[in-house]
Amino acid sequence: MSKARVLVTGAAGYIGSHTIVELVKAGYNVVGIDNFSNSKPSVLDGIAAILSERIPFVEGDCCDTATMEKLFRDYDDIAATIHFAAHKAVGESVREPVKYFRNNISSLLNVVQMSVAKGTSIVFSSSCTVYGEPDPENLPISETAPRKSAESPYGRTKQFCEDILEDSVKAYPNLKVTLLRYFNPIGAHPSALIGEMPGGVPENLVPYITQTAAGIRSELKIFGKDYPTPDGTCIRDYIYVCDLARAHVAAVDRMLKDKDAPRIDVFNLGTGRGLSVKELVDAFISVNKVALPFSYTDRRNGDIVQVWADPTKAEKILGWKADTPLDQILKSAWEWEKKVRNIQ
Ligand code: UDP
Repeated sequence: MSKARVLVTGAAGYIGSHTIVELVKAGYNVVGIDNFSNSKPSVLDGIAAILSERIPFVEGDCCDTATMEKLFRDYDDIAATIHFAAHKAVGESVREPVKYFRNNISSLLNVVQMSVAKGTSIVFSSSCTVYGEPDPENLPISETAPRKSAESPYGRTKQFCEDILEDSVKAYPNLKVTLLRYFNPIGAHPSALIGEMPGGVPENLVPYITQTAAGIRSELKIFGKDYPTPDGTCIRDYIYVCDLARAHVAAVDRMLKDKDAPRIDVFNLGTGRGLSVKELVDAFISVNKVALPFSYTDRRNGDIVQVWADPTKAEKILGWKADTPLDQILKSAWEWEKKVRNIQ
C-alpha cells in the first residue's frame, strides 16, 4: 500500500518544520506549503539536511483559494492536513486585529473547504490561550475546563477556528478533526539544523534568553515579580518542540487508522509540569553554563499568572507523552542559537 500523504501548512514555521521531520520518520509522505510571511526558505534546507531528501513544497498563501485548489489537485493522495499556517504574535494581534482575523480564519476556511471536498482529515494547531486565565482549582488544566473570553485577538482566532471546525464536523459527515492545544513549545531539533527563528525582537521567553546569552540583547527583562506564585514570576508548561511534533503524528495516525475514533477530539499538549520564568532562567544558566544578564520589570499586559496542562488524555488515547528532560531541551535551544550566530 502506498504511503498516505499529509499536507503541512506553515511548513517552514517553527512547529511545522519539526513536525515534517517526525512525519517523514514515521513513514508518511508530505507536502508543505508556506508563504514565508514569518519564516525563511532556508528552513527547507535544514529539513532536507536532516532527512537527506527535499520534501515536496509549494510557495503560496493558504488564504488563496485557487492556490489551495491547485495543491489538492496536484497532490490527490493527501489524506490529512495539519494546519499550522497562522499569524501568532499576541501583541501584534492587539494592534492589528483585522489582519489576524482575515488571515487566520480565511486560511482555515480554505482548509475546511478542500478537506470536505476531498474527504480528508484536519489536525488544527490550537493553543492553551483558549482557556484564558484558569481558576487555580482547575490546575492542571484538562480539556474539559471551560474556555474563557480570550485575552487577545490572536487567542480569539484560535477559539473561532475551533468553533468553525466543530460546526463543520456537525455539518459534513465525512470530516474528521483533531484540535491540539499547545502549551509553550521550546527548544530545537537535536541536529541544530532547524529551530525557532523569530523575526526582529523576540516576544517569547526562550528565544529572548538565547539571544541574550548570545550577546544580541543586553539583558532579559522578566515581566513581573509580584505574581501570586512561589517566586513571584509567571508559571507556564514548557514543552519540547520535538515531543510536540510527535503528537501530531499520533493524531494523524489515529484519524486515519482508528475507525472508532470520534469525528472531533481535543487534546492538551504539555508536560504536566509548571515552571516559573525564574526557574527556567536558572535552569538555562546552570545547564548551558553561560552568563545571562537579567532584571525584573513591570508585568506584561495580557499575561496570565499560571497555567500548566493535564496531559493524561493525550497519553491515554494517543499513547503520547512529552518525556524529553528539561536539561536536554534547554541545551538544544542554546545549540541552535550558537549555530545560527556562528558561536563556538
Ligand atoms: N517573559 C518574560 N520576558 C520576556 C518574554 C517572556 O519574562 O522577554 C515571560 C512572560 O511574561 C511569560 C513567560 O515568559 O510569563 C512566557 O512568555 P512567552 O511569551 O514565551 O509565552 P506565552 O505564555 O505568553 O504564550
